[in-house]
Parts: sequence; structure tokens; C-alpha cells
Amino acid sequence: MSAAISVRNLFRYFGVLKAVDGISFDIPHGSVCGFVGANGAGKTTTMRMLATLDYPTMGSAEICGINVVDHPDKVRSLIGWMPDNFGNYDHMTVLEYLDFYARALGYTGEERKGRIEEVMAFADLMPLADRISNKLSKGMTQRLCLGRALLHDPQVLIMDEPAAGLDPRARVELKHLIRILAEEGKTIFISSHILSELGEMCDTLLFINAGRIVHHGDADSLRYGSDATGGVFYDVQVNDNPESVADWVILNPGAEVVETRKRGARLRLPNPDPARAAEVLKGMVKDGVPVIEFHREERNLEDAFIDILGQLEQGGAGLTAPPDLSTPDAPSSEQHSGTEATPPTA
Ligand code: ATP
Repeated sequence: MSAAISVRNLFRYFGVLKAVDGISFDIPHGSVCGFVGANGAGKTTTMRMLATLDYPTMGSAEICGINVVDHPDKVRSLIGWMPDNFGNYDHMTVLEYLDFYARALGYTGEERKGRIEEVMAFADLMPLADRISNKLSKGMTQRLCLGRALLHDPQVLIMDEPAAGLDPRARVELKHLIRILAEEGKTIFISSHILSELGEMCDTLLFINAGRIVHHGDADSLRYGSDATGGVFYDVQVNDNPESVADWVILNPGAEVVETRKRGARLRLPNPDPARAAEVLKGMVKDGVPVIEFHREERNLEDAFIDILGQLEQGGAGLTAPPDLSTPDAPSSEQHSGTEATPPTA
């Protein structure tokens, strides 16, 4: 079975600017993938091509096996698109707005009523039915945008920065809705700057930098992975004499104190082998350090992302190379013409 989203050697150049520079990835059906990158990294450009709103300069993208350039209408029936900014109309209530889109999608009679009711119930829009749609708060507007994107019950949801500008409560609500959609089996491709939040709700994370994919993997492999030079971090707590941890480290090479703490220290072990950690713990206990807690610390995802970028700057391949998805007949970047594509009229 084909992936829900499949991208091969996709390029989008704006004149000489390589906004998307030969990316390839697959997102399996029913999974949630977070798309992460700095400002200008190429997230929106990639998503717009997947949403059939822009043409690739070169390469291919498919939604459920259907090419986005060859069959945009079919693709549009499969995707729900939440742009980072969306247009609205003056003097239209929330209900009228959804009704307008449901009609545009071809729904009539009871079916249209049913679709509107379903998305309103899902996105908690019922209490807002008579509110003017362009006078809503940011959180309400995002719920309306989500409701609109779900009107035709799409299999794949593409969401560009849906949490941007939301307060913490609205973020939690949005996350909850995304989780429900994922449980229903929808495939969700979601971009954000808030890495920690993405990590909680995504099965995989796709990092893009300067138009290129620099990592594609699950959040846990980053959280529990080693740092740029292969080191891992441990929290060591003692029930008495917190300096005893640092004192022990001075006399015993193979670990370093990166932070002294009220109840002990944070250590970095340059060797990620758990056997090495066991040796350190054994040594401390043997030498009388009163250890009551010794555990591997999760890294935060921002640190992991920065490490990957740092490695790239130093000419490394990144912590986790993206899977090789190149196809034998795919064009190489050297073959690329660099000409600007004509945007679609839709
Ligand atoms: P952000 O997080 O700030 O939204 P992004 O990762 O979504 O950033 P894109 O919007 O995809 O980044 O932009 C990638 C690059 O392409 C940027 O340098 C941007 O200025 C450029 N770009 C995007 N659209 C166009 C366009 N229509 N014409 C020229 N350049 C463009």
C-alpha cells in the first residue's frame, strides 16, 4: 500500500532561491508527522505544493498514491488544508461560513446539514454559530479553520503552524482535537516551531533546514539519543553531601559534571554505552557516595535539533540521515534547471 504522503526529490526554486531543495520522505497512513524548521526553512512552500497550491520546480509528490500536479482535483478531495493564514469574509457568521464551503464542496440537503453539524460539534463551534466569522479570537478562528478543513472528511490533514499565536489553553484544545483525528486514523502532517509540543503528539518528526531534510525519525530516538559528540546525560541525586558527586568525578575520569544541583549533579558521560553508566554508579556506591537516584535524562528536542544543525555546519551528515528514498530515474540537483514554476490558477 502506498504511503499517505510520498515525496521524491522535490524542488521549488524562486528564481535562484532554493526554497525546497530536493527533499524525499514518506508518511505512512494513520500517522502524525511533525514538520520542523526555522523561519524560511521551506515548510510552507513544501506544504503548499502538497496542497496543490503551488507547482514543484521538479520532482514528485503524491497523496495516497495520486500525483499532486497531475490530478489536483482528486488530491483536493483527499486532503484538508489548514494554512497559516486564512482569508475570511465580512459579515458572515460561523454557520454561514461553513455552509458556504459545504455548498462549494457540492454537499446538498440533509447531507450538507449533517456535515456542518458534525464539524461544528467536533471543533466546538456550536456556541459560535451566530458569531461573525472574522471577529473571532485566534483560537476560535483556528477551530473554524479546522472545521472547514474537515468538512469533506479528508483522509489527510495538512496543517501549517496551527498552534501559532494560540494561548496555552487553546493549544491544549487543539492538541486534543489532533489526537482524536489521529485516533480516527487520519494522517496528519503538521508544522510548528514548538518542538516540545510536536514531540508529544507526533509519531515522527521531519526536520527541514535551508530546503533540505536533515532528520526524519521518532521523537524518542532524539530524546534518548546522544548529543553531537556522542555523550549522554545522567541526573545523580544523593541524600546527603551534594558535593560528593562532583568530588567523586574529579578523582574518576570518564564522566564530567555539567551542572551542580541542590541534591547532586548532572553528569555527562562521553560514552553512551549503558555498561559505562553502570560502572560509574557502581564506583560511586563503592566509594561511599550516598546515591539515591541515578537516571538517564531526556534531552529536550530543541537541543537535539540544534545539535543536528551544528553537525551539518561542521560538515557532518547529521545525527540521523534521512532514509534513502531516491529512485533510479529521479533527477539529481545538478540536472535541475532552476527555473521558476508557473503557479496554478486554482
Ligand atoms: P516560516 O516558519 O517563517 O513560515 P517556512 O519554513 O514556512 O518559514 P517558507 O515560507 O517555505 O518557509 O519559505 C522558504 C523560503 O522561500 C524563504 O526564503 C521565503 O522567503 C521564500 N519564498 C517563499 N515563497 C516565496 C515566493 N512566492 N516568492 C519568492 N520567495 C518565496
